Amino acid sequence: MFLTISTTGTQERPATDLGFLLHKHPDKAQAFSTSYGTAHVLYPEAGPERCTAALLLEVDAVALVRRGKGKGRGGAPDAALAQYVNDRPYAASSLLAVALSGVFSSAMRGVCDARPDRAAEPLPLRIEVPALPARGGAALVRALFEPLGWTVTADPVPLDAEFPQWGDSRYVRLVLESRALTLAAALRHLYVLLPVLDDAKHYWVSSDEVDKLLRAGEGWLSDHPEQHLITSRYLSRRWSLTRQARERLELVRLAETDDSEVEAIDNAVASETEEAERPTPLAVLRREAILAALGESGAARVLDLGCGQGQLVQALLKDVRFTEIVGVDVSMRALTIASRRLKLDRMGERQAARVKLFQGSLAYTDNRLAGYDAAVLSEVIEHLDLPRLPALEYAVFGAARPRTVVVTTPNVEYNVRWESLPAGHVRHGDHRFEWTRAEFQRWSGAVAARYGYGVGFRPVGPDDPEVGPPTQMAVFALDTAVSGTTQNIAKEERTA
Ligand code: SAH
Repeated sequence: MFLTISTTGTQERPATDLGFLLHKHPDKAQAFSTSYGTAHVLYPEAGPERCTAALLLEVDAVALVRRGKGKGRGGAPDAALAQYVNDRPYAASSLLAVALSGVFSSAMRGVCDARPDRAAEPLPLRIEVPALPARGGAALVRALFEPLGWTVTADPVPLDAEFPQWGDSRYVRLVLESRALTLAAALRHLYVLLPVLDDAKHYWVSSDEVDKLLRAGEGWLSDHPEQHLITSRYLSRRWSLTRQARERLELVRLAETDDSEVEAIDNAVASETEEAERPTPLAVLRREAILAALGESGAARVLDLGCGQGQLVQALLKDVRFTEIVGVDVSMRALTIASRRLKLDRMGERQAARVKLFQGSLAYTDNRLAGYDAAVLSEVIEHLDLPRLPALEYAVFGAARPRTVVVTTPNVEYNVRWESLPAGHVRHGDHRFEWTRAEFQRWSGAVAARYGYGVGFRPVGPDDPEVGPPTQMAVFALDTAVSGTTQNIAKEERTA
């Protein structure tokens, strides 16, 4: 297993600086023992104009198998014969990536005390891997490296040079060239993409692999067009790890996204929901109706449960009657967008003291939700599977128990009035159900009775004589006669 890294230079900026960047002296051949064999670093050429470092990994295939690490994907042992006659010693693979990170760890982090300026700047690089196992072929090799700024040559290696009629092996001879990358970036690309192309990780993938992947992927993986394939293969297709990695990469991407893009996301979302129709979008009418109901209830401390991207929180913040506003959502992505919309990081201290966002699921009771005047569930209940709904009912009406609860949900009867909505379809792909007015009123009545609330209903949007309004709203008020003295005192204080 063999890989070379070359650079070019001048008398003033000699190519041999590569030795400083790699923390390996060009005049010495060095050997390092790794868990799979011995890694050698040597310099076939080292002059001011041209310098090449070679990393050669001598793998002990038998030791590899004996150590129990010669397992195929998913940890299942390969067939006995395959274990001894495997290609690990000969082909660049995930083992080479492991050696790379072991032997060049400082270089990978971009650390170079001797030549700090050179470590931070791009340099002319040529990397060659004579035999790279590439599941997906030369086309995938290009799709992985080209978006990162590499010029890629990937020549398929014939199965047997003397018998071209046997066709190509699954190996390519890879040459990468670039003048735009730092050495650290180049090494991090290889560290991730060699095992991705090999697609046969030799060791059991554990959850710290996600951290390793994100560290090595910093600055390039979050917007790589093949990000899905890379995360999935790197993490040996372990779904929970892959999902974790993608969620974290998405946060990285959002953090790098500027506000105009957040607005663009909003606009796209708005135009997806046909509710963005003129003159006044239904979403705006809904917020106005909710603000009115909250105002009438006299609430000052308000929960926005399933706050999504924070539009209602933003409207509540503009109204001084609301002294404390808490947005809760299960989606980190939504919360990240909400916090950027609200500009939480740039907010003055007094405003910031009024608002809080946190992640939580409404399907579980949560002490942090107790003690508020009012809670809003705006277009949220229909996102829960019906069997999960009683859990939310208990968490909100039974445990958190605010004096007022405002719930909105689509009125399915109105769907025939949406011109662009095909018959029988719900308004949003994630809606698990949409109710008629009778169904919503039946549910609300039952919840109110079970938890000691009174409930009234209001239309939101044009109230069609036949099919009713597009959005239906229920306003629950804690029935103080039923629920005991504390609430009575609170109510008396309020009316006094
Ligand atoms: N209230 C906002 C967003 C509605 S979309 C508005 O009116 O525009 C529904 C939101 O509920 C989504 O942001 C979704 O992430 C959130 N949600 C769905 N199930 C949830 C759960 N179990 N716990 C908390 N939030 C949930």
